[in-house]
Amino acid sequence: MSELHKFLFDGMPVRGMIVRLTDAWQEILARRASNTATGAYPPPVAELLGEMTAAATLMQANIKFNGALILQIFGDGPVKIAVAEAKPDLSLRATAKVAGELPADARLPDMVNVGNKGRCAITLDPKDKLPGSTPYQGVVPLFGDRGEKLERLSEVLQHYMLQSEQLDTTLVLAADDKVAAGLLIQRLPVKGEANLEGTSGSDHDQANEDQIGRNEDYNRISILASSLTRDELLTLDVDTILRRLFWEEKLLRFEPQAGLLGPHFACTCGRNRVANMIRGLGQEEAQGILAERGDIEVGCDFCGKQYRFDAVDAAQIFTAPGDQMPGSAVVQ
Ligand SMILES: [Zn+2]
Repeated sequence: MSELHKFLFDGMPVRGMIVRLTDAWQEILARRASNTATGAYPPPVAELLGEMTAAATLMQANIKFNGALILQIFGDGPVKIAVAEAKPDLSLRATAKVAGELPADARLPDMVNVGNKGRCAITLDPKDKLPGSTPYQGVVPLFGDRGEKLERLSEVLQHYMLQSEQLDTTLVLAADDKVAAGLLIQRLPVKGEANLEGTSGSDHDQANEDQIGRNEDYNRISILASSLTRDELLTLDVDTILRRLFWEEKLLRFEPQAGLLGPHFACTCGRNRVANMIRGLGQEEAQGILAERGDIEVGCDFCGKQYRFDAVDAAQIFTAPGDQMPGSAVVQ
């Protein structure tokens, strides 16, 4: 069962979280594998997407924000885009578009940063959006401070969190075809709550910035956390991991989130969203597809569900809203 564990280090300005996705991750992989158009993810892509899904879960659980956290990588190599989305109820979905061959041992730069144009974006999409408001988005390059291509997603995100929250963060991520897991250790803000939107005051930012790299408790715990290996993260249960890493520290643990309250797969696609997408194509384009194939078929990249629109359905989509028949499937 997929689970999320939160903990604090007693008397120190440090908090942590471990996520272990098992059934939720296996469902994402199984849905992709059963998609006859794409087939299963190549192993390096599955590993990247698993790490992204674990990271999105940790980042969502780490902020006070009522909306979706969407972690995206726009690649310039064989992986064109990879997306992982986590909602406040810990519902998760993820997908990736792969074009072309990739070596079995492909690393992050080989997949998404071949020509130095890959980038990573973190979007916070509020649940109750005001009309006309755009979601917050932060973009991070896939390079380190010395201009080197980053080899690991965890490094990219640590960098992002340091910049956006002025808080030291240590991330360890790992995924295979059964488990996607992550450990996050973060220094607590000097005062108040930090968040990814960076809405805190400048005094607050300055105080946090002054502490970067200087808190001894955080530094010690970060080194312990970084010693966790990929194999340990994937194969050991959470209690064992915490005991092995932090046996000399006093941990305060919260009730784990698992089962119905824990991380789980869910897709929010629906016929109305697809109808809006077809509307976005324009009537001419839609008529062209209908003339050629008889109907418009759209599959959801996240869950694999297929949506079919015949000529009558399509005509309804392009009917002016005022002319809609009662009970029409088209809802704005
Ligand atoms: Zn879907």
